[in-house]
Amino acid sequence: MRVEIVPCLSDNYAYVLTCEATGQSAIVDASDSAPVLEAVARAGRRVAAIWSTHHHHDHTGGNEAVAAALRVSEVLGHSSDRGRIPAQTRFVEHGDAWQLGLLNVRVLHIPGHTTGAVAYVVSGDGQQAVFTGDTLFVAGCGRLFEGTPEMMHASLARLSQLHPATLVYCGHEYTEANLRFASHVEPGNRDVAAALVAASERRMAGQPTVPSTVASEIACNPFVRARDAGELGARRKAKDSFRS
Ligand code: ZN
Ligand code: FE
Repeated sequence: MRVEIVPCLSDNYAYVLTCEATGQSAIVDASDSAPVLEAVARAGRRVAAIWSTHHHHDHTGGNEAVAAALRVSEVLGHSSDRGRIPAQTRFVEHGDAWQLGLLNVRVLHIPGHTTGAVAYVVSGDGQQAVFTGDTLFVAGCGRLFEGTPEMMHASLARLSQLHPATLVYCGHEYTEANLRFASHVEPGNRDVAAALVAASERRMAGQPTVPSTVASEIACNPFVRARDAGELGARRKAKDSFRS
């Protein structure tokens, strides 16, 4: 399995996921057509599908142009996002599974940021990756635009049950700000302190901080670590107004 990270817009990430054995690729979140098409061309990828994590424009704004340019007929999103995801042709549900080349793909419904948010779990070559959109960020979680703290708590629990070595690819580069909030919530958490140093070094070198791992999110992420939905809701509210 190979993942190309494609920076889009101001701080979004799209991804080009490839089964190296067969050369089949899928685009996760065609945020913006130009950088995505450029990445596909640069790597010489044959794209079979676009997988949208949720309906927001900064994750789906390139769907129509990318699908047309690459003649992709499979544009995936949750069944409840029908009418909200441009060019959507496939309406997935929690537990749906298929293959991309030799890679196994599985959908998790993870409402909270939006009600139709999904994650794509991909495994093969002894590796596993999960694409979490704006639900689970590195050291953070998305704003609760459509869902409740209860939904987000259950969704993060669902994601943190994946194998600890699972690589986490999220929708935005918000890691440094998230870790500053995390160290405000848990000043004594040494994993957070170490992660903040590492993230700052990567950003200073112009590198993305993705992927993280499920193990690292369990150690550092104040929303994954919230003991219940009440604590998660209070932390989400505090984060909304936090200025580091
Ligand atoms: Zn979003
Ligand atoms: Fe977003």
